[in-house]
Amino acid sequence: MSLRNVVVEGDPILRKKSRPVDEITPRIIKLLDDMADTMYYENRGIGIAAPQVGVLRRVFVVDVGDEHGKLEFINPEITMREGTQVFCEGCLSVPGKNADVERPERIKIKALDRDGKEFELEADGLLAVCICHEYDHLEGILFIDKAIDGQINVMEESDDE
Ligand code: ZN
Repeated sequence: MSLRNVVVEGDPILRKKSRPVDEITPRIIKLLDDMADTMYYENRGIGIAAPQVGVLRRVFVVDVGDEHGKLEFINPEITMREGTQVFCEGCLSVPGKNADVERPERIKIKALDRDGKEFELEADGLLAVCICHEYDHLEGILFIDKAIDGQINVMEESDDE
């Protein structure tokens, strides 16, 4: 297992736009593996995008604990957005804060998997929320930018074990 440092709010890297992956090299595979390790390790995160580990590439990993398990997206493109839902979001890069954010209820996304094969996925509910949240990271957008009425909640500090 190999963990990477999670970049937190205030670091300008989180505000930059990520570049597409031109070739899926062993470095990209290692990046995907390390991102998943880091996501599962850090307070059981449900998604992580490459800029959060300081790499400006269009890559993210999600696992919302449903039947899909771990999903990896390279050069993703959201091709359909439908309906709306509001969910209280948090982020490994914005520790101690959460906010209600409006997202599409249902999306379609296409991307490459780690073998370079294109796939398309339809997602709704929490998975759609999580994918939209991670996708925003690739554009330099954080969930707090989209907080409904600018309302950001600061959570009580809890001691990590
Ligand atoms: Zn995030």
